[in-house]
Amino acid sequence: MVKSINKGLKVEIFPDKSMEHVLNQNIGNARFIWNNILAQYNYLYKLFNFHGHPLNPNINNLNAILKMLKQEHPFLRQGESTSQQQVFRDLNKAFTRFFKGKSAYPKFKSKKNPKQSFRIQKNGNNIRITNRRIRLAKIGFVHYRTSKKYRKLLKTSKINNVTIKKENGKYYAVINIKTSVYELEHSGENIGIDLGLKNLATLSNGQEIINLDLKYEDRMISKYQKKLNRQKYMSKNYQKTLEKYHKWLNRKNNKIQNAYHQFSKYLVKNYDIIAMENLNIKGMFQNKKWSPKLQTIGLYKLLNMIKYKCEWYGKTFIQIDRFYPSSKKCNICGYQKNDLTLDIREWTCPICNTHHQRDINAAINILNEGIRIQKENTVTT
Ligand SMILES: [Zn+2]
Repeated sequence: MVKSINKGLKVEIFPDKSMEHVLNQNIGNARFIWNNILAQYNYLYKLFNFHGHPLNPNINNLNAILKMLKQEHPFLRQGESTSQQQVFRDLNKAFTRFFKGKSAYPKFKSKKNPKQSFRIQKNGNNIRITNRRIRLAKIGFVHYRTSKKYRKLLKTSKINNVTIKKENGKYYAVINIKTSVYELEHSGENIGIDLGLKNLATLSNGQEIINLDLKYEDRMISKYQKKLNRQKYMSKNYQKTLEKYHKWLNRKNNKIQNAYHQFSKYLVKNYDIIAMENLNIKGMFQNKKWSPKLQTIGLYKLLNMIKYKCEWYGKTFIQIDRFYPSSKKCNICGYQKNDLTLDIREWTCPICNTHHQRDINAAINILNEGIRIQKENTVTT
């Protein structure tokens, strides 16, 4: 079956100096608008709360604040207008998520964040893509580089929007397109996955996916970071070091991204039901010895990747409640070993005598629970 999906294609772009200036200005504007609307809204929120009528943000009142801002700060009128509209739509979304209890209260955006962006909504002819260049309204033509496959996709697809990102000193355009994919054939096989810290993942068939070896990248990153700390801020040598530092950060990120893409693709190709545990992000953050922050964020990205690929390719993704005792339960007889601490990697069930590898046992339980949930879902619908 053919399915219509939205997909973001990330391509590197090469703005010249003057265009870099315009891009940075737009990034700055987007941040300025976000921060100012948020500040205004916080003020109103407190005021209304004081009077006992909580103010829910919506497109209308945020838009009113944007109009006010533009009157106060004429420089905003020179920027790309759809991207300004986009900022308050994003902010509105962030508030909606907050009020639904799905995410934290929207935060101010910092200039120091190494990742900065702004988005341009497709509106008539404001975005055009040729073989080598992207034309953006009020910004101009900018060269880009990508694979043959992406180039072909860009030519034949409808564009929704373009996000310009500045990440570790490089510029990218994430071009969001409407495209179609063929659902993958069913294999009749299902899989449970235990995401871990020791291994990247353990599968219910016993397969272990080991963590990437990033020692070299990490060593280079920390080497240049230390060098940056010693050098004079923004001096010539500092900038040279910064370039190297960014290079290694990007190498590390790309390596992780590629590995995640490969692994998630392998899963959706080979399995019909893919069951995973909800990540206990909060708990993982608290356990500092076990998980550096970034690794946890990485796992979250991986989980999302598997989830959307399942959607695209017609496979079933099932998330198991994180309170389900996947590690403690014997997958053969159901006995629950409540004194299983994190350091115990293997154990023997006192009831049925099965010897368990901790993570494989967990993955099998996750698979069984996933299949049970899937059956329940198919009965009720
Ligand atoms: Zn047992």
